[in-house]
Amino acid sequence: MDSRFQKLFEPINLGPVRLKNRIVMPAMFTKYASAFGEMTQEYIDFYVERAKNGVGLIVVENTCVDWPAGKVASNPLRLDDEKFIQGLHDLAEAVHPYGAKLATNLQHAGRQSNPIHTEGHELVSASSVACAPTGGHIPHALTLPEIEEIVEKFAQAVRRTAAAGFDIAQLHGAHGYLISQFLSPFTNKRNDKYGGSLENRLRFPREIVARARELVGKDFPIELRLSGDELLEEGYTLKDGVSIARAMVEAGITSVSVSAGIYEVPTACFPTMSMPRAVWSEIGAAFKQALDVPVTLVGKLDDPFDAVRVLEEGKADLVAIGRQHLADPEWARKVAEGRVDDIRPCIHCNEGCAGNLGKDWRVGCDVNPAVGHEVAYAIKKAPKRKKVLVAGGGPAGMEAARVAALRGHHVVLFEKSDQLGGLLNYAGVPDFKDDIRRYRRYLVGQLKKQWVETRLGQEVTPALVQEYNPDVVIVATGAQPKANAIPTAPGAKVMQAVEVLGAPIPEGRSAVVIGGGRVGVEVALYLAEKGKKVVIVEMLPDWACDTAGVNKVEMIEKLAALDVPVLTNTTAKAIRTGGVEVVTNGEDKVLGADFVVTALGFVPDPTLARELEGIVPEVYSIGDLNGGTRIWGATHDAWWVARTI
Ligand code: SF4
Repeated sequence: MDSRFQKLFEPINLGPVRLKNRIVMPAMFTKYASAFGEMTQEYIDFYVERAKNGVGLIVVENTCVDWPAGKVASNPLRLDDEKFIQGLHDLAEAVHPYGAKLATNLQHAGRQSNPIHTEGHELVSASSVACAPTGGHIPHALTLPEIEEIVEKFAQAVRRTAAAGFDIAQLHGAHGYLISQFLSPFTNKRNDKYGGSLENRLRFPREIVARARELVGKDFPIELRLSGDELLEEGYTLKDGVSIARAMVEAGITSVSVSAGIYEVPTACFPTMSMPRAVWSEIGAAFKQALDVPVTLVGKLDDPFDAVRVLEEGKADLVAIGRQHLADPEWARKVAEGRVDDIRPCIHCNEGCAGNLGKDWRVGCDVNPAVGHEVAYAIKKAPKRKKVLVAGGGPAGMEAARVAALRGHHVVLFEKSDQLGGLLNYAGVPDFKDDIRRYRRYLVGQLKKQWVETRLGQEVTPALVQEYNPDVVIVATGAQPKANAIPTAPGAKVMQAVEVLGAPIPEGRSAVVIGGGRVGVEVALYLAEKGKKVVIVEMLPDWACDTAGVNKVEMIEKLAALDVPVLTNTTAKAIRTGGVEVVTNGEDKVLGADFVVTALGFVPDPTLARELEGIVPEVYSIGDLNGGTRIWGATHDAWWVARTI
């Protein structure tokens, strides 16, 4: 045990249930359940992997208490009927031997759904307030008998939680779901006994707890998950959040798990790369000060030094480590052993997890291709040790080398520049992208640990390959920025986005960035933060179409704060000294600029892979060579190839 993290590993009780440590894996929707919300083997494998690596409490994903009207998406886990107890029991049987405890996260999505998911059922809520982020459908305001029915459904799901052999039932009262729709003045406009005053808005969750206590008795732990602050002008404040928690403790809950926000503030539910670490620690502190029951805190606590600090500073009793457990299931074990550098960091990109869910796909992870396939994709020793040559030291090449080496192959990696990292070296330049720098450090560190022979400053050629004579070549030479084909006057100052990021800040006060994809927007923000006056030009009707929705919301806020306009439907016709000629919505214009940055996408170069065909038994092209410049493509291609050679 590393004594620096001792506090994380102290036992704690939630009611009568003793947790072996203070590390919680909070509820995260995965879509690993069957189409009908039943338990699956993949789902069990996913949680077992986290349990066996030391998590103290696993809160399984949002579990539907009212199918289909309360479904949040197409296939959440469900517990609206006795027949689903068996599946949860199977999970409990599989997880408990590793010493982890289990909680359900009982949920009714209310207005935060879409009729596509509720199988045509009308959405319901406290009041008829539409939720724009899920399609803006106006929900039906629940009648008194309907409220009574849903109270019963929640309470029965608590009873089934206990019947399944789970240790704790958690009521999902956070992030804008039905319970919080009753609690919030933003969504509760009722003028009956369930609306108006805070006392009335508390009635719905209080009734759930009272009925659940009748069914499970006074000791079975019932936790409330609550947004401490809705962070919304018309929503409830931190002071209200604390009052709600206090009232719910009086109503009989055992503990509180606190986060922030609702769907209208998505970055609160999925904190982004540029938000501070331990982002909700002051919310935790307020709850801890006011309550005498255990408080769990979530929100970018994946750096173990942050996690232990919030415990030591008395800002929480337990820490919930969410997405980091998607990125690295061995987080708790590595922390206990003091192997902090071996933790594969969650980069808070919100692409593979939240982004996939936005498309109604299973949860994945940009940096952990095995998530959700823990048994099927486990790294196994190769039947035959091969000589593997990796060409390119970007994220794809490094991940391929890492996995191939773990499988026992002899791996040598050639990188033509003088440093490892590829495009990560540029992507990690802006201050707000520390997570990219951490991920690069992790990959570089793992190559050393796996004894991967790394040769910098050496470009791979067919002659070099013939001399080295490998069994396998993995080509990960990346892609080059698309050349500027816009007519450009001599003397005009034009740079590629990567050149801007790889050099000192250009001189001049104003810039036009041509290209409004993710790279263009990020470089524009980078320049605006350095004090430049920037305009983005995008020929399509929309911008940042290659970016997960949550991140785009943040980009909109940042662009507004830094006064960076995005001109869509705008084509750059010519670049001249001191500006860019554009056609914007059919009108000719000149945008003044001291310098111009092009972010027109990337072009892969398949030459090396083609030249190697026939001279090496196995040649694979991975990462940016297959199009795109996402970390997902790099790591997933690398994983698929290196796992099977
Ligand atoms: S996809 Fe990105 S944000 Fe989500 S868990 Fe993986 S690294 Fe973290």
